[in-house]
Amino acid sequence: MFEKILIANRGEIALRIQRACKELGVATVAVHSTADADAMHVRLADESVCIGPPSAADSYLNIPTLMAACEVSGADAIHPGYGFLSENAHFADILEEHNITFIGPTADHIRLMGDKIMAKETVKALGIPVVPGSEGAITTDEEALAIAAEVGYPVIVKASAGGGGRGMKVAKTPEELPVALATARSESKAAFGDDTLYMERYLAKPRHIEVQVVGDGKGNAIHLGERDCSLQRRHQKVWEEAPSPSLNDAQRKQIGETCSNAIAQMKYRGVGTIEFLYENGEFFFIEMNTRLQVEHPVTEMITGVDLVIEQIRIAANAPLSVKQEDIRFHGHAIECRINAENPSTFMPSPGKITYYHPPGGLGVRVDSGVYVGYTVPAYYDSLIGKIIVHGKNRNECMMRQKRALNEFVIDGIETTIPLFTALINEPDIIDGQYDIHWLEHYLEKP
Ligand code: ADP
Repeated sequence: MFEKILIANRGEIALRIQRACKELGVATVAVHSTADADAMHVRLADESVCIGPPSAADSYLNIPTLMAACEVSGADAIHPGYGFLSENAHFADILEEHNITFIGPTADHIRLMGDKIMAKETVKALGIPVVPGSEGAITTDEEALAIAAEVGYPVIVKASAGGGGRGMKVAKTPEELPVALATARSESKAAFGDDTLYMERYLAKPRHIEVQVVGDGKGNAIHLGERDCSLQRRHQKVWEEAPSPSLNDAQRKQIGETCSNAIAQMKYRGVGTIEFLYENGEFFFIEMNTRLQVEHPVTEMITGVDLVIEQIRIAANAPLSVKQEDIRFHGHAIECRINAENPSTFMPSPGKITYYHPPGGLGVRVDSGVYVGYTVPAYYDSLIGKIIVHGKNRNECMMRQKRALNEFVIDGIETTIPLFTALINEPDIIDGQYDIHWLEHYLEKP
């Protein structure tokens, strides 16, 4: 096992990783920008290093400074969390060159899955169903028009280097396609420095269902069931639950096994998520994330497996701690992402928290790094915490989430809690009847 792990992240996820380290008896090093000097992840770490000014590019994304922080603290491994450098293959390469363990997959696997065209080809060859569309990149408008005529309109043009919902454009007709291509191309070039595009059939009312996988890097892999993340705004998840209200046990087992078989064949190391769109009983792969995800706690709640401890153990060359046949799914879990934002306009609302009372009780988990007197900085993502609740079944889970949301008090800033207290009373949400467009339609209503 490692002696000291440097956590190259901030906020709730830095704290989450620290908790796992402490339970493993591993010392922790927090890093922080000057804007985060008073953050909880800094206060609770065994030691901390300031890595630069507020801007993430100069601090949390600054590889030379992070390497120096490793050097001065004597950390033997780095956990990247999510976002920031978590899917940066170059960073993983550099760590390897310096004999510091990157707690995550190999740089080659990060690179492979970061290129969406290559990712799609790879998983298709391993038996995972993909969205029908172009085979590889599209080079000319004529080629795109021909492929679109074959797969049928509407189509979606996507950036091969894409992420965070950027560089995607829908075309409903052949007339719209050249414009969609041009816009996606320039957006992708600006955001990722790469304008390689591919195209897929645009699914009208799919759900977003993703499978959590874990591999040991030696050809052994398991799946921990699925999460339903269909409630999204601007392609960003806001509410996640497990199991999906729309799958039965047989479907769950089948897609889970398809994914774990692929992961085993790839000799994938660490935790990962295989994301699908699900429509009319069919799964269509969209991408694989080679990191821990924001919504990982819902899986932990229904399986009892600590995904961060598992990640760290695998990075330290330990075998998987559970076998597929030992995994049992218990009850239901729902996560609501609490953002420091106005709940109707979604404008960021940084500032000082003047009162903070988190919910508690059976089956309630709050992952957050905020406290009374803490100032939410304006420089980073507005996620300030997550409420994850567990219940025997979906109904109990919904009632408990409603109760927990009502108990939660955060004063001094605006948060998205009121959005969730409204959503939880919506008949479609109560019935689990929603697709990836549901929330956008709901928010458009006067
Ligand atoms: P990113 O990496 O930018 O998040 P994804 O490929 O994961 O891109 O897609 C993000 C979201 O965009 C999906 O959750 C879904 O809402 C929408 N989307 C992507 N591909 C399609 C498609 N073929 N049909 C319909 N919606 C899609």
